[in-house]
Amino acid sequence: MVVRQYAVIGLGRFGTSIARRLHEAGQEVLGIDINEERVNDAEQYVTEAVIADATEKKSLVSLEVDTFDCVIVAIGDDLQTNILTAMLLKELGVKKTIAKALGRRHGILLEKVGVDWVIYPERDMGERVANQLLSPNMLNY
Ligand code: ATP
Repeated sequence: MVVRQYAVIGLGRFGTSIARRLHEAGQEVLGIDINEERVNDAEQYVTEAVIADATEKKSLVSLEVDTFDCVIVAIGDDLQTNILTAMLLKELGVKKTIAKALGRRHGILLEKVGVDWVIYPERDMGERVANQLLSPNMLNY
């Protein structure tokens, strides 16, 4: 299996589950969060975890995020922080960017910024559940 380098920015439930799964699958994962406690917790399920403010360009530059294969913006609630981080990643020339959107309007902005894959967690999960319900045998008791 090819080992790739991922950076996950924001280690809430969403970012944690992405980082944990990638790491379990043998990938290199850098976890980034502004919150020291979250970073300490992450040390057990990522390759490396660092405290940094992702809206500070110099922090992203010193972490060399542009050298990663993929960077995921998993900051949710704060729209400005989420969008600014995505903009900086694009500006720094990150190869593949993924970002979580809170809703359609937020997603449109992220698309305009040039994010490669905009994720709508609730919508996407709802579709996944519906697809599973539609699969044969799912409701056979
Ligand atoms: P989730 O919905 O995934 O559980 P949450 O509700 O705990 O997340 P969010 O506001 O979505 O919290 O933020 C996710 C993570 O992003 C938090 O751990 C938060 O500390 C981190 N975060 C917020 N702002 C920044 C920033 N500027 N730089 C780095 N990390 C940040």
